[in-house]
Amino acid sequence: MADIKEMYKNFGISEDVYDYSVKITDALKQRFQEIDIIAEYNQLKVVNAMQKNQVSEAHFAQTTGYGYNDLGRDTLEKVYADIFHTEDALVRPQITCGTHALGLALSANLRPGDKMVYISGKPYDTLEEVIGIRESKGSLREYGVTYDQVDLLDNGDFDFDGIKNKLTSDVKLVGIQRSKGYATRPTLSVKKIGEAVSFVKSINPDIIVMVDNCYGEFVETIEPSDVGADMVVGSLIKNPGGGLAPIGGYICGTKDCVENCAYRLTTPGLGKEVGANLGVMTSFYQGLFLAPTVVASALKGAIFAANLFEKFEFKVIPDGKESRHDIIQAIEFGKPEAVIAFCKGIQAAAPVDSYLTPEPWDMPGYDAPVIMAAGAFVSGSSIELSADGPIKPPYAVYFQGGLTWQHAKLGILKAFQNMVDDELIHLV
Ligand SMILES: *Cc1c(COP(=O)(O)O)cnc(C)c1O
Repeated sequence: MADIKEMYKNFGISEDVYDYSVKITDALKQRFQEIDIIAEYNQLKVVNAMQKNQVSEAHFAQTTGYGYNDLGRDTLEKVYADIFHTEDALVRPQITCGTHALGLALSANLRPGDKMVYISGKPYDTLEEVIGIRESKGSLREYGVTYDQVDLLDNGDFDFDGIKNKLTSDVKLVGIQRSKGYATRPTLSVKKIGEAVSFVKSINPDIIVMVDNCYGEFVETIEPSDVGADMVVGSLIKNPGGGLAPIGGYICGTKDCVENCAYRLTTPGLGKEVGANLGVMTSFYQGLFLAPTVVASALKGAIFAANLFEKFEFKVIPDGKESRHDIIQAIEFGKPEAVIAFCKGIQAAAPVDSYLTPEPWDMPGYDAPVIMAAGAFVSGSSIELSADGPIKPPYAVYFQGGLTWQHAKLGILKAFQNMVDDELIHLV
C-alpha cells in the first residue's frame, strides 16, 4: 500500500520501519481476532444493560443543585450494576479519581478497631497514604484501622498459607489489586482472583473482599464481581470511561457495601439521593458504550509493542505471547537514552500537544527524575495513549492506552523510529 507508507513518511516513519511493522502485525492476526471477540462480547453486555434499563435521551439532561431525583445518574448506576452483576453501584463525577474511589470504598466500610489485609502485596502507591502505610493526615490509620499485607509468591500466585495465617478474627476487609500497576509482578486474571475470594470466604464468609479493578475493566469477559468480590472499584478516566468521561469513579458491589459508600461520599442520611450530574451524563453513557472497543484498541497496542520490542532483546512485561489481564505494558530498555527517545516518540504522535518535547523532571514523591508523555483530550487520562519512565535502572517505560488501535500503532512506531534514528535499535 504505497499510499499509507506516504502517510507514515509524513510522520517521519521510514519505509524500513513500516515494512518491519507489517511483519509484526501479520503475525498477530489471530491474537487480534481473539481480542475482537472479547470486545464483541462486552459490547453486547453493555448494550444489553442499557436496553434493559431503558436508557433514553432524558437521561442525558444536566442537573444542578442537590440533584434530587436525578434519573440519568440513578439509571447509569443501574446500568453499571447490571454490567458488573452486582446488587448496586455508585458512579459519580463527585468521585474525583481512582484513588478517591478506593479510599472511599475502604473508609466507608471500615470502622475503628477493624483490620484490613491486602493479599496481592503492596497496594498502588497512592493508597499508602490513604491506608497510612506512609504517614498522612486523615489516613485510615489515624481512625484506628490497622493494616497488614500478604505478598504474592515469587511466581505471582497468591500465598494461600500466608493468607490463612493473617486472616484473624479482627479482619473486616481484604483488598486485592488486579493490575500490576508499576510493580513487575504479573497481573492477576479474574479466575485467579476468584480462587482467592473463595479461599478468603471459606475462612470467614463475613470478610468484605474489595478489588482494585483499575485498568482491568473489559479486558476479559468477566469481572472480579462475577467471581465473588463484594466491591469492584475503578476510575472513569481509565477503561470504563471509554476516553469520553472527563472525571469520575465507580464502586460496584453488594447493596450494603455500596450504601456505606454513598453515606460516606455524601453524608449519613443523604447517601445516593444527592449529587447533581452537572452535565456529564452523555459522556458517561457514551464512554461506557465505547469502552469495550477502546480497551481492545489499547490491548492491541500493548501486544504490538511487546512483540515489536521483544525482537530486539528488550525485556517486555507481559511478553509478546502471554495472556492479558490489564492494558499496561512495561519495556525495560536498560538505557536512559532509550526511555527518553521512546517517550518523545509517544508525545510526537499525540493528537494534542504533539509539538511539545517531554523532558525528565524531579516529580514530587519520586526518588528519581521521571519522563512522561501524554497528549490527551482529558487531562491525565491514561486510557489515552500515554507513557512514563523513571530515569533509573532498569530504565523501563510503562505505557498504556490508545483510544484507537491505529493511533496506538502510530505512537509505538514513532517511538520505535526515534530509537532507530538514535541508533539504539539496529534494524536488520
Ligand atoms: C491508576 C490506579 C489507581 C489510582 O487511580 P488514580 O485515578 O490515578 O487516582 C489505583 N490503582 C491502580 C491499580 C491504578 O492503576
